[in-house]
Amino acid sequence: MSKIKSVTAREILDSRGSPTVETKIILDSGATATASVPSGVSVGKYEAVELRDQDPHRFHGRGVLRAIASVNQTIAEQIVGREFASQLQLDETLIKLDGTKEKAKLGANAILSVSEAFCKAMALQANIPCFAYVAHLYGLGPNDLKMPTPMSVQIEGGKHGAGNLDFQEFLVIPSSGQTFAEALRMLAEIYWETEKVLIQYQAVHSVGDEGGYAPNLFTNLDALEVLAEAIQALKYNLGRQVFLGLDVAPAYFYHQNKYRIKDRTTPMTTEELVEFYRDLLRQYPLASIEDPFHEDDWEGWTKLAQFTGNTIIVGDDLLTTNKQRVQQALRKGACSAILIKPNQVGTVAETIEVIKLARQAGWKVIVSHRGGETNEDFIADFAVGVGADYVKFGAPARGERVAKYNRLLAIEKMIDQNAHE
Ligand code: PGA
Ligand code: ZN
Repeated sequence: MSKIKSVTAREILDSRGSPTVETKIILDSGATATASVPSGVSVGKYEAVELRDQDPHRFHGRGVLRAIASVNQTIAEQIVGREFASQLQLDETLIKLDGTKEKAKLGANAILSVSEAFCKAMALQANIPCFAYVAHLYGLGPNDLKMPTPMSVQIEGGKHGAGNLDFQEFLVIPSSGQTFAEALRMLAEIYWETEKVLIQYQAVHSVGDEGGYAPNLFTNLDALEVLAEAIQALKYNLGRQVFLGLDVAPAYFYHQNKYRIKDRTTPMTTEELVEFYRDLLRQYPLASIEDPFHEDDWEGWTKLAQFTGNTIIVGDDLLTTNKQRVQQALRKGACSAILIKPNQVGTVAETIEVIKLARQAGWKVIVSHRGGETNEDFIADFAVGVGADYVKFGAPARGERVAKYNRLLAIEKMIDQNAHE
């Protein structure tokens, strides 16, 4: 049992210079934890609502003072001085207090910051690392813990990129048969080499929101070629030691039921895009394709899922870490993996519930950052605690991405030590 002594929130900036919520919780025992929440750039239609002030005189309307007030007033009034037996009990209180389906009243940003801060404080109080506490919530024992494989964006387009690519993310995914530290080293080496290849082609670039390069290239497939070239230059075996991946995120280029990308002169129908992927799978060793179709284009998802073999088809905007959407996707046989973003749903307990549902279906689980991040590393612990297969934390560069990778390096050491004791 833990009584909450105080809960206070404040407005801070995320990695894109946009305001976000940071909440501090102090328990009666003295355990003190803070948690800040991320923010999506390409937000799915079915996500929980992030409360923004809409006051044009501050941060172009993106201030979060109303969300801060949700924590400091409405939530504090209900939870300060109260005992909570579990994460579930606290999260249920927050859900009830909000009362809306999308957490529109208090804001999912306000609610999640409290939920995560409480989880971190409870771990401190139990005197165990946060990942071990999450494992206990999820139902994994200390010997069940394993490190996830990192999926790293190295080239960005779509809403994230300053370049001219339609697809949002071009990922590099090391094979799972190595330590996390080795996988991360490989990703950093490929990241540097990719820059060299881009310079050699004079493909002007900056970086996108998640630290991946945002070059100007002729086609989306050119981005895969660039990555393949970088990987081969380093003499890594593409298709055995390392794979490629995509987050297509087509909301950016889907108009009037057609997909318009620079690889084709005319917009594609769903059926044509299915065939485009069929060719792509023959050409490149793709370990994963995320959001290959628009979130309401179920036909495309279902058709693609029939022939993708070992390539996982990942629902992000399709599923939005939402139980009902997962159930719908299961009925339709639409995907084989789920992208988990706690802020799409708004509490730790609901996120865990969705992961359990996905696991029952035999899906792979990928815990993900968002386009706008802080140095918060809760999701690194969370990923290990729920036994995620993969993490998607961005390029192996930029402080807010590296904070999470570095936390995983620390966790790997702790798990190893535990195994040898
Ligand atoms: P986000 O997108 O900017 O909405 O977090 C990341 C993703 O689509 O995976
Ligand atoms: Zn995505």
